[in-house]
This record gives sequence, C-alpha cells and structure tokens, in this order.
Amino acid sequence: MATAISPRYPETAVSDFLARKHRLLINGRWVESSSGKTFATLDPATGEVLSHVADGNKEDIDRAVAAARNAFDKGPWRRMAPSERGKLMWKLADLIDAHTEELAQLESLDNGKPLAVARAADVPLAADNLRYFAGWATKIEGNTISLSVPYTPGARYHAYTLREPIGVVGQIIPWNFPLLMAAWKLGPALAAGCTIVLKPAEQTPLSALFLAELIQEAGFPDGVVNVVTGFGETAGAPLVAHNDVDKIAFTGSTEVGKLIVQAAAGNLKKVTLELGGKSPNVILKDADLETAIPGAASAIFFNHGQCCCAGSRLYVEQSIFDKVVDGVAQQASKIKVGPGFDPGTQMGPLVSEEQLSRVCGYMESGFNEGAKAVVGGKRKGEKGYFVEPTVLVDTNEKMKVVQEEIFGPVVTAIPFKSEEDLIPKANDTVYGLAAGIWTRDINHAHSLAAEMRAGTVWINCYNIFDAALPFGGYKQSGWGREMGHDALELYTEKKAVCARIG
Ligand code: NAP
Ligand code: MG
Repeated sequence: MATAISPRYPETAVSDFLARKHRLLINGRWVESSSGKTFATLDPATGEVLSHVADGNKEDIDRAVAAARNAFDKGPWRRMAPSERGKLMWKLADLIDAHTEELAQLESLDNGKPLAVARAADVPLAADNLRYFAGWATKIEGNTISLSVPYTPGARYHAYTLREPIGVVGQIIPWNFPLLMAAWKLGPALAAGCTIVLKPAEQTPLSALFLAELIQEAGFPDGVVNVVTGFGETAGAPLVAHNDVDKIAFTGSTEVGKLIVQAAAGNLKKVTLELGGKSPNVILKDADLETAIPGAASAIFFNHGQCCCAGSRLYVEQSIFDKVVDGVAQQASKIKVGPGFDPGTQMGPLVSEEQLSRVCGYMESGFNEGAKAVVGGKRKGEKGYFVEPTVLVDTNEKMKVVQEEIFGPVVTAIPFKSEEDLIPKANDTVYGLAAGIWTRDINHAHSLAAEMRAGTVWINCYNIFDAALPFGGYKQSGWGREMGHDALELYTEKKAVCARIG
C-alpha cells in the first residue's frame, strides 16, 4: 500500500501517521466510526489541521464496551498468569521506548509542548509507568483472617481475601499530557486484569492512537484495550452512563468531574477522579533563593501552566517578596516562547483557541479587579495560541485569578507576614491537589507540610513525579489516587471467602 506523506509536515518522522486515516480500535480491529464522521485535530502553533480522526459516538461506545465486557468475562486476560500480563505490559513499554521519537513528535505537534520536553519527560515517564505496574501484576495479594464468630461457638473457619479485577473500565483523559495520562490510566488497570475503553481528549487524540498501534503490536488479547476517539458529550458521556462499565477513571476539570459522578449513578459504578487545582507554592525567608526562584518559575511555567498541580499561587514571606517576584519575573521574561517543534523553544502554545481565550479572559478579569502584571499579561503574536509567561501582583483572596484554575502560564504572587497569616490563605480554595514549600529548615518544612490540605507536598522541589508515588486530590481535586499501590487497589475489588472447616 502506498503511504501518503502529510504535505504540511514532510520533515517529520510522523508524516505518514498524520496522513493516515485514523479509525477506532475496537475488539482488536481498526474500524470506522458508525456515523462515518471524522474530526480534525489542530496544530496549536498554527491553528492548522494536523490530521483527521474518527468521531466516535454512543453506538461506537456500545461496541467498544461490548468488546471489553466480552474480553473480561470470556477472554483469556483475566485468567492469564499474572507474569504473562506483566510481560505484555513490559513489551509495550519497550515499544514505547523504541518509538520515542514518533511519540514525542506527535505529542509536540498535537499538544504544542516543546519536542525536547516530550522526548525527555512525557514518553519515558509513560514507559516507566507501564513497567512499574507490570511489576505489580505478580504482587496482587489478599490476606488470611482469623475468625471468632460469636454465634457459632467452637466452629472453625478458614477465611481469606482475594483481590480481583474490578471489570470493564472506562478511562477518560485530558489533553495536557496525552500519552502520559493514557499510561497512568492503563498501567494499574492492565496489571489488575481489567479491560478498558479509553477516550482521549478531542484536542490531542494522536499519541493515544499511536499507542493503540503499539498495543496491537505487543499482542494484547482482542478487546482488552479499546480506543474510541470523539467528544466528551457524544463519546465520553455514553461511556460514563453505560451499565456494563464497572468503573470510570477520569482526569480533567472539576466541572466535568461533577457531571461524571451524576452520570455514573445509574449502575453505581466506581468512580475515580483526578481534577483541577490551585496549588500554593510557599517560599519562606530562609529558603535558598538560588533554587527557590527558578523552582517557583518552573512550578507554574512547566507545560505552559497546563498542569493540574501547577504552583499557581506563589506565597512569599514579606521580607523577600520583592526580590522573589523580581527573580521569577526575570525567569519568565527569559523563557523562549515558540512552536514546540522549533529547537530552543522552552514554552509552546496553549493547546487550543478555547484555552487561549480562557486564559486571556482570566488575566482580563484580574486586571479589571486591580491586579497588575509584573511581566507578561497578554497573548503573544497573532498566529497560534501563544501566551506570555505572566506574574500577577496586587491580588486579593477574593479575585477569580486567585481562586479559580487558570490552566495557563499565569502565577499570582502574594506576600504573607506570618504562618498564622499564611496557612488559612494557602488552604483557602475548593481545591487540594498539591503544595510546595521552600525553606532551609527541614523540621519547619515537615510541620508546614502537615498543615497543607493537599494530596502532594513538595519540599524544596516541585513537579516531581514517580510511578511509585501516589498522586491525587483532597477536597474538589478528586477521588482516589493515580500511581503507586493506591492506584492498583482502585482497579480491584476485595472478595472475602469464608469456609467452615470444623
Ligand atoms: P474537560 O472538559 O474536563 O475534558 C477532559 C476529558 O473529559 C476530555 O476527554 C473530554 O472530552 C471529556 N469530557 C468532557 N465532557 C464530558 C462529559 N460530559 N462526559 C464525559 N466526558 C467528558 O476539560 P477541558 O474542557 O478540555 O479543559 C477545561 C479546563 O479543565 C482547563 O482549563 C483546566 O482548568 C481543566 N483541566 C484539568 C486537567 C487536569 O489534569 N486535572 C486537564 C485538562 C483540563 P472532550 O475532548 O470532548 O473535551
Ligand atoms: Mg490537537
């Protein structure tokens, strides 16, 4: 078969892939969407069309769920030796490594992030996550329990628990780390022996489709992983509502998270949610500013601020406030903003026009309420969805820019006088995903960490992720945890077995 080359991206390693007709992966086969419709995914650096993907709808979700249900109930996956599941996952991780360049290019083109970042972070972290969970496949254990049932005196029992896969899971992921979010979701589900219907974000479906090709190449049984591209309302919602789905795992906005909880109520499927944040990053006056200042800049500007855990509220002890704000502003002004594909780019465009207007709208609302930009404060250029790295001051706790998730490269810097002043402010949002603390006094850091209502606290570092470290939110930042043993447990049910033996 002659392969087409995408005319707009002839120089890339993925031009064939971009030009290809993308379909849905259902039951181990690539199929058209039942409507025959497709939609375009755009290059956020230019707003131009990158590729077309299938527009999956309820009928496609029904087909994918039926395939996952059949693969779970009747297929070999659940009964396969755990070491065999682990080997397949490890093989998939090796294939990801072997295709680092293609995956990194797709991620950069589709999401806008710098190619170097996708190569160094997104792709290797995705492979690492699958390997970590491949190791868990052989370590899923229950326990034995001694009983003393009061109404059967003298009777003896042998009682134990089993950890079993939860069943068919629907996984709905966002666009900020498209491949990595797929890996975070797939890893624990596959290790536990679940079967999956994955719906990538409409803005960034390409790396999930490439990953699906690798899943096929690795040799997973048919129906274990199904991938349906499409929109939230027409593909995501029917997946959440489906009666044959046992669990939904969702990452995205708190707003949609709440819709998911309601839509899942029909069959009371289990739900885990990884939602938004408005994380406080605290610099104390005894901090090493050589690391704290660049640390605070990277806490907000990494991935263009499109991180659920972004350090978007920077609390600085009064006596060093001006120095830190100057330092972070200098860092911001040095960031090279440009297309993710350009060598040297440190910050790419936001993912979509919608995000561009959302982020600019937040900045406008801040200015209208009296906030000032020390650096940045507006869109950059006319083409593509670029925003200037921005540091806001003169804010107060009531402003939208301090309370709501902006999801862009915008930090509000706020001085504090004492810890009594700081702690209530730091915890004063509906979110509780992460927090940062910068100080040389490590005892102090740990006592402050205990005061933070957040699922992750970073001390003298920020945005440190590891497959073994649980990640998730307090309050409206979510339910459950991603990664680590916690994530695995959330893809299992616990069964108690009780036998009378005397
Ligand atoms: P979103 O709507 O929450 O999207 C996340 C995922 O949910 C996407 O796959 C989306 O599909 C799907 N979805 C949307 N509505 C759904 C529904 N009713 N039922 C089932 N699935 C549904 O997020 P967004 O609109 O892209 O971004 C808006 C804001 O969300 C951002 O500005 C940011 O504040 C936050 N956000 C947070 C994270 C995070 O990591 N916690 C990630 C991304 C965004 P579509 O592709 O059709 O939207
Ligand atoms: Mg795109």
